Amino acid sequence: MDKIYLDHAATTPIKQEVVDAMYPYLIGNFANPSSVYQIAQQNKKAIDESREVVAKCIGAHANEIFFTSGGTEADNWAIKGVAEAKKDKGNHIITSKVEHHAVLHTCEYLEKHGYEVTYLDVDEFGRINIEDLKNAIKPTTILITIMYANNEIGTIMPVAEIGEIAKANNILFHTDAVQATGQIKIDVHKENIDLLSISAHKLNGPKGIGCLYIKRGVKIAQFMHGGGQERGQRGGTENVAGIIGFAKAIELAYEQMDDKVAKYTAYRNKLIKGVLEKVPHAFLNGHPTERLSNNVNIGFEFVEGESLLLLLDMEGICASSGSACTSGSLDPSHVLLSIGLPHEKAHGTLRFTLGEGTTESEIDTVIEKLPAIIARMRDMSPLYEDFIKTQK
Ligand SMILES: *Cc1c(COP(=O)(O)O)cnc(C)c1O
Repeated sequence: MDKIYLDHAATTPIKQEVVDAMYPYLIGNFANPSSVYQIAQQNKKAIDESREVVAKCIGAHANEIFFTSGGTEADNWAIKGVAEAKKDKGNHIITSKVEHHAVLHTCEYLEKHGYEVTYLDVDEFGRINIEDLKNAIKPTTILITIMYANNEIGTIMPVAEIGEIAKANNILFHTDAVQATGQIKIDVHKENIDLLSISAHKLNGPKGIGCLYIKRGVKIAQFMHGGGQERGQRGGTENVAGIIGFAKAIELAYEQMDDKVAKYTAYRNKLIKGVLEKVPHAFLNGHPTERLSNNVNIGFEFVEGESLLLLLDMEGICASSGSACTSGSLDPSHVLLSIGLPHEKAHGTLRFTLGEGTTESEIDTVIEKLPAIIARMRDMSPLYEDFIKTQK
């Protein structure tokens, strides 16, 4: 691909090593892992080894990993599964206003079915306030679900503190770690995480596979009813090649994490600095330091993000104006509104998310091309014209 692809929060390219690992399971051993003959049992064994690999990356045990079709399913399962399993204890769930739609829409669904949800506000950087969390807890609270790192603005939540509070109050803690996995060293035991969602395609693995970590002893309701796969917790013939690819991808991601994070951080800081220096009336969204190493989210006043994306695309630059899910709709992102941006500022936002293939010369190209694109758009903007008049 000769494009400058800077949208790795939306999805990442699959690695050659991952494809190579999957290949024998796609065209070679096709047997159903539930069958009794040897070739089937070989597939079952390969799945169990993959489970081991995934578990190790987050400090879990293999029997705490349940493969799902991805991050969305893992989020749905965690939240609905706890809601159902704990309904005798209570009906109250605490989350934040900046969650991914897989969490937010699941919570909204549960509200229609008798559950009560508190959506915590976030500060200007996108972090929840720990005191707010403590104050939101009620005797009926059964679940706290707060993301590890935000997919739009990259802000990292105070996960360990949240885990401590959840534990002290005997409340289950789920975290959507889809963006954090592979960039942050996660330790589910140290951080008191009971449930955690991962998706393979966000870490250079295949699409349509991920997992939910469920801490040993935590009982949640089954989500997919069917055969006895995943120890009776998630029916459906296993996505064998997907599971193998997921394990390979996460293993490589953790092996290469330190180098990758160092590289991303340097490029990220260069991109932020370069753009903010060259483009007037631009501002960084998200936390200056507590942010994912690969996330750059910058707002530009007097321009419209969607049109910016089209002009960038014409220059061969793939970025996002919020999250992939909100592109194509005119509502500004719920995350940007939650950090306090007014609608007109939220509209002019670009997200660049770096990945393994990102080079310094790509970053330089963006820094070089963006100012002219923004200037061109502002020249056509009546809002900018009005603003300039007030300056004279
Ligand atoms: C991408 C993403 C998801 C959804 O994962 P899928 O595997 O695409 O279903 C959930 N949460 C976050 C934070 C994400 O970035």
